Amino acid sequence: MAEYQIRRCDRQLEGGIHPETHKDLSTTEPCVFVDDPKRLVFPIHFSGGGPGEALVAVGDTVSQGTPIIKCQSGIIHVASRAGTVIDITDHAITHPSANQSASIIIEPSGLKEQSYLDPLVWPFDADSLRNRAIEAGILGLGGAGFPSFKKWSDGTQTLIINAAECEPYLTADDTLMRIDTHSMIRGACMLSRTLDIKTIVIGIEDNKPEALEAIEDALKESRSDCFFDIVLLDTKYPSGSERHLVWLTLGIEVPTGSRSVELGVIVHNPGTLAALSRAIDGKPITDRIVTLTGEALKAPKNVIAPIGTPINHLIEATDTSPSSLTSITVGGPMMGYAVTEFTAGITKTTNCLLARDVEIPPESPCIRCGACATVCPIRLQPQQMVFALKGGSLDLAVHEGLGDCIECAACNAVCPSHIPLAEWFRLGRFEVRDQANEQRLASEARERFEARNARLERIAQEQEAKRAARKAKTADALEKARKAREQTA
Ligand code: SF4
Ligand code: SF4
Repeated sequence: MAEYQIRRCDRQLEGGIHPETHKDLSTTEPCVFVDDPKRLVFPIHFSGGGPGEALVAVGDTVSQGTPIIKCQSGIIHVASRAGTVIDITDHAITHPSANQSASIIIEPSGLKEQSYLDPLVWPFDADSLRNRAIEAGILGLGGAGFPSFKKWSDGTQTLIINAAECEPYLTADDTLMRIDTHSMIRGACMLSRTLDIKTIVIGIEDNKPEALEAIEDALKESRSDCFFDIVLLDTKYPSGSERHLVWLTLGIEVPTGSRSVELGVIVHNPGTLAALSRAIDGKPITDRIVTLTGEALKAPKNVIAPIGTPINHLIEATDTSPSSLTSITVGGPMMGYAVTEFTAGITKTTNCLLARDVEIPPESPCIRCGACATVCPIRLQPQQMVFALKGGSLDLAVHEGLGDCIECAACNAVCPSHIPLAEWFRLGRFEVRDQANEQRLASEARERFEARNARLERIAQEQEAKRAARKAKTADALEKARKAREQTA
């Protein structure tokens, strides 16, 4: 039995909101596998892990697990089912920053052909685990899609399992913790042993009693020597944001502009750790749990679906006709984004498809009520930031703290004027990143130019030195010849 304790969190989340959770909607039905779709869609640049390159060509046959995309970060994405690459073309995708992008289209064959990796046999070192995470395409499955191996440094003291899942409607993590608990615990233990992490913390909201019970049962059956500190959090949004979770569970404040890894704390989603456990056994990520929910779906539930499954196939899995919907939200109601093209495929970061019949009331002018500032968990002044952005002053918005905004949309939820504050902040932050990228590219170009000039100067100096040496040698030889001639005369 692994040692563990359960304690209630004694810290309070500042700000935040208590929205209706609507979680029962998708947890009353059991989680099921969906049938394979007729096509699978894999965006080459937007599958997580950064821009990529295709490793397959049209006409290639692939097995489940065959590498098909290699990202700039090194992350490999594999075919989620055996089949044939029937096209590589621009296609609708699910991503907040693009509607279409180059994608690999695979027609599943229905065959069970698999191409997995060799199991990693304990003991293995951190580099072996990092390589395995790269080959198996392990990303943050909670929505961010950050390559997990990049967080794993030698100075890590604590691993936090982010089991808060505080966003309304979402139950994919809750489901995973109920049905795949052992994989999550094993992934956490293997990572901790490899990086010599002392403590594993599980931060879980107190509205998940079934998951908590499953975790306790798994820990009682585990033979791990890791210690688990289970922290029960009040159900309040956004307690699962990384910096708030670190504060709530450990009392460590992550300073502005820093990340928790710099303080020796890594945070992983339950699904990421379960996927890591399977990767150690040789199986790359091919499937994930997706919450299909919302009042507009006839039979909401959680499903296990192949990566690349088109949205319309999943809508049909809830006995709902895709034509009855005009758009669907990818992610939860707070931080998700709308998609209208249902042929787009799910990626590793698609945790939820939400279909609701809600009328969004028209926006009216700000009445300066200050409600948005009261709920902001970062203590920002959202109304000031949005004035700056609406007035075209990105610098002023940054001065007001745009860089610290976690895009949680708690401010949206309470704004009586229905101002889409978080959407403005998301766009503003994209622009800041674009500008930073442009500045970085300009600075890299300047560095390359200066390095080139320095290199040319060095070559010119070397050539000049060689010329001078040759000249001196020739003068010396002429002098010697002259002296020899004089002696002969
Ligand atoms: S979206 Fe940004 S400004 Fe609005 S509440 Fe969240 S952190 Fe604060
Ligand atoms: S909640 Fe809306 S109306 Fe009130 S101050 Fe903020 S932006 Fe203005």
